[in-house]
Amino acid sequence: MDLMEYQAKELFAKHGVPVLPGDTVDTAEAARAIAESIGKPVVVKAQVKTGGRGKAGGVKLAETPDEAVARATDILGLDIKGHIVHKVLVTEASDIDKEYYVSFLLDRANRTYLAMASVEGGMEIEELAVERPEALARIAVDALVGCDQAKADEIVAAAGFPADVAAEVASVLVSLWKVFVEEECTLVEVNPLVKTPDGRIVALDGKVTLDANAEFRHEAVFAAYADVAAEDDLEGRAKKKNLNYVKLDGQVGIIGNGAGLVMSTLDVVAYAGEAHGGVKPANFLDIGGGASAQVMADGLEIILSDPDVRSVFVNVFGGITSCDAVADGIVQALAMLGDKETKPLVVRLDGNNVEEGHRILAEAAHPLVTVVDTMDGAADKAAELAGAK
Ligand code: GDP
Ligand code: MN
Repeated sequence: MDLMEYQAKELFAKHGVPVLPGDTVDTAEAARAIAESIGKPVVVKAQVKTGGRGKAGGVKLAETPDEAVARATDILGLDIKGHIVHKVLVTEASDIDKEYYVSFLLDRANRTYLAMASVEGGMEIEELAVERPEALARIAVDALVGCDQAKADEIVAAAGFPADVAAEVASVLVSLWKVFVEEECTLVEVNPLVKTPDGRIVALDGKVTLDANAEFRHEAVFAAYADVAAEDDLEGRAKKKNLNYVKLDGQVGIIGNGAGLVMSTLDVVAYAGEAHGGVKPANFLDIGGGASAQVMADGLEIILSDPDVRSVFVNVFGGITSCDAVADGIVQALAMLGDKETKPLVVRLDGNNVEEGHRILAEAAHPLVTVVDTMDGAADKAAELAGAK
């Protein structure tokens, strides 16, 4: 689960990574009281789960409480890379002498952890990694040893931090590693970590990804940070309905029962899509063995509300839940969704009681539903419908 900046900074503060005081508001007027209580110039910052907020106009300086209200008015409601701003952080402004970059992450390719650090922070790290890879130090961190003082010193030396900040940055790294381990993260990133003109080191921004597999050990943190904003996120909505859903970047929505069947459906659709303008699967969704009409409706609802989806392939092998129950589920699900629905569905049923399943779909004769008998044929039809528009 990705956290917002203010949430990341709360975890930073808990483990001793230096941050500046601040608070979040969701109305512009409420920014006044925060700015007054800080009693210094503040920065008003969009809280959305994407980077590049500064460039998009989502980070603004305010000298007075009045200005803080005005800047919050500007920022609330902004669309930053498809994320609407519902919340802003009002935090003490800092003077900046230097901007640095530090992070810890799970390095899956090398089966270890990785520290990255640079004395050229501020710009997006993806850009830095491409444009000036030599300016980004990458140091493996052993899971059993972690980032102790010696490792922190090694990272600081590799990145070329100047002597006047080396000790302080190393101590921040040790604290940041505590966040990484104790909160069970797959990423902790500070960009920029700044040196102020009076020589202090402060995390001005924070990005944290919590490992969702460890949620059961951190229920309070997950409950506190499972935010409302995630409601307009497809994966967030699917999770609330207990659906096994993963968003992909194609155009053919996929629903199947059984992880193996769904994975092979993704392959077949990707292959069929090559002949139809390169369309691809839009998602993974396994509705499981005993799928009821309600589960089918929930799944269809999520997939059909994905703006990228242009057709849907329902691929079900009847087992414990027989094909007639699945067909009933599809018919009822479409009825629940009503006539606002316009995206075509291709249905392929096989297995237990398939004839009755086909009979039910034929009888319902829903104008959006096409029944195709084979998996390859259905994949091709779904890809064709997605490619046609
Ligand atoms: P991002 O664009 O989403 O990464 O948001 P950041 O929190 O990193 O802010 C973007 C940039 O705004 C930073 O790199 C800083 O240059 C600038 N910035 C953020 N906070 C302050 C502040 O307190 N004072 C000053 N002078 N600049 C700031
Ligand atoms: Mn940043």
